Amino acid sequence: MGPRSNSSSLEACLRDVVGADQVLTRLEELFVYEADGLTHHSARPRAVVLPSTTEEVVRVVKACRKHEVPFVPRGAGTGLSGGALALADGVIIECARMNRILRVEPGDRFAVVQPGVVNADLSKAVLQHGLFYAPDPSSQQACTLGGNVAENSGGPHTLKYGTTTNHVLALELVLPDGNVVRLGSPTGWPAGYDLVGAVVGSEGTLGIVTEVTVRLAPIPERTETLLGIFPDVVSACRAVGAIIRSGLVPAAMEIVDRRTIEAVEASVYAAGLPTDAGAVLIMELDGPDVAVGVQAERTQALALAEGANEVQVARDEEERQRFWRARKGAFGAMGRLAPDLYVNDAVVPRRKLPEILEAVCAIGDRHGLRLSNVFHAGDGNLHPNISFDRRDADELARVQKAGAEILRLCVEAGGVISGEHGIGTEKRDYMGLVFSDDDLDAMKKLRAAFDPTLTCNPGKLFPTTRFCFEANPKARGYDQVPLE
Ligand SMILES: Cc1cc2nc3c(=O)[nH]c(=O)nc-3n(C[C@H](O)[C@H](O)[C@H](O)COP(=O)(O)OP(=O)(O)OC[C@H]3O[C@@H](n4cnc5c(N)ncnc54)[C@H](O)[C@@H]3O)c2cc1C
Repeated sequence: MGPRSNSSSLEACLRDVVGADQVLTRLEELFVYEADGLTHHSARPRAVVLPSTTEEVVRVVKACRKHEVPFVPRGAGTGLSGGALALADGVIIECARMNRILRVEPGDRFAVVQPGVVNADLSKAVLQHGLFYAPDPSSQQACTLGGNVAENSGGPHTLKYGTTTNHVLALELVLPDGNVVRLGSPTGWPAGYDLVGAVVGSEGTLGIVTEVTVRLAPIPERTETLLGIFPDVVSACRAVGAIIRSGLVPAAMEIVDRRTIEAVEASVYAAGLPTDAGAVLIMELDGPDVAVGVQAERTQALALAEGANEVQVARDEEERQRFWRARKGAFGAMGRLAPDLYVNDAVVPRRKLPEILEAVCAIGDRHGLRLSNVFHAGDGNLHPNISFDRRDADELARVQKAGAEILRLCVEAGGVISGEHGIGTEKRDYMGLVFSDDDLDAMKKLRAAFDPTLTCNPGKLFPTTRFCFEANPKARGYDQVPLE
C-alpha cells in the first residue's frame, strides 16, 4: 500500500457515499470494534461503516481503495481468532445491517440471505416449512451467516451434517477492487472451479460476501437426546470412539468437563448437571421415528459399557433444551471465572481423544492455568479453554505458551490447528506447523488472484514471522502488525 491520505478526507468520502449515520468515527464508538471474541488481540479501526446494500459495500470499498486504506469485513465479532480486526489503521465494513432473508424456496430446499442474518434466525424463519439450517455454532444466537461463511463454521451437529461449506450453494461477493461477482448456483452444481469452496473459510481475505444461498434440511421426524454422566473426561472420550466404531451416526456428541460443569451450574445457564461428575457427554440421534429409538438404546448401552455412571434420556423438549443449555451456555458461564477467556480450537483424530485430553490438561496444570474443556468430541474438535486475566503479563505469557504447546501436541497427533474459529491473527504464525512454504505460496497465489493489492483484511491467515514467536506478545507483533 502506498502512503495514506489524511483521515478526514476519507471520513468525508465515506459519509458521502453511504450517509453520515452509517459511519462511526468517534473514539468511544471505535472502542467497541477493537477486538472480536479474542480479547487480547486488538487494533483500533480508523472508521466503521455500516452498509445496508451491496451497492453501498461497493461504494465503501471503492472509497477505501481511492484513499489506499485497507478494509475488513465484519459480522457480529464473535470470531475467536482475531479475524475481524482492522489492522494498519483500516476501515471495518460491518455487514450486520444487511440482515434480510431475501427468498425461501421450500420445494428446492434453499434460502437466499444477506450476510448479516443471524444464524439462529434463519432456522426460526424456515421452521414453518418443516426445514432448518444445519450448521449451528454455539454462538448461533449472535453470529452471522457472513461470518459463518468466512470461518467455515461448524457446531455440535457438524458430526452428522457437515460444516458450512457443505451448505453453501452460491455467493455474491464484492471483490477487493469493487467489482461484484456471483459464484456457484442454487442447484449446487457449479461449472468450472469450485470458487464457492475457495471463498468459504477464506476468513474475509478474498472479498466481502454480500449474499449467500444456503441449503436447508428437513427437520428430522424424531430426535433423542441423551446425557451420559462419566467419572472422568477420558472415559467419556472412549465412549465417543466406541459409539462411532459401532457404525452409529449420531447427530451430535459433545463433552463438557467437570470445571465447565461447575462454572455452568454457578451461572444463569445452570442446567442441573451433577457437579461431582468428571464429565458429561451429550449424545443426540435424529432421523426416522422407527430407527432413532433403536439407535438411542444402542448408544445408551455403549456409553454404560464404556464406564458411564448413568445415562439420562431427555423425556421431553424441555429436558432436551436443559441438556443443551449447559453446552451452549458454557462459554458465557466461563465469563464468571476470569476477565478473559482463551478458546483453543484444534482438531485431532478422534481415536486419539483420550490421550490428547490427558496431555492437554497436563499442559494447563504445568503452567498453573485454569483450563477447562467443552468440545465437539464427535469431530475430534477440541476447545481447551483457559480463563485468565490479560492485565497479568505473566499469566498472559503462560496462556500463550500453553496454547502453542497444545497446538503442537495436536499437530504431532495428526491433527490441524483450527476446527472452526479460523486462523486470524491468533494462529497465523503457526500455519508452518501444518503447511510447507510451497503450500503457503500456493494459497497466497489464490489470494492474489482475488486481491492483488492485498487490501482486503490484510495481516490475517498467513505467517508474518518464521517461528520466532515467543511468549511476549510484542515479540509476536500483536501491537505492530506488518501486512503480509
Ligand atoms: C461463545 C462462542 C461460541 C462459539 N461456538 C462456535 C462453534 O460452535 N462453531 C464455530 O464454528 N464457531 C464458533 N464460535 C466462533 C464464531 O462464532 C464463528 O467463527 C462465527 O462464524 C463468526 O461469525 P461473526 O458473524 O461473529 O463473524 P466475525 O467475528 O465478525 O468475523 C469473522 C471472520 O469473518 C469475516 N467476515 C465477516 N463477515 C464477512 C462477510 N460478509 N464477508 C466476508 N468475510 C466476512 C471477518 O473478516 C473475520 O475474518 C463461537 C464463538 C463464541 C464467542
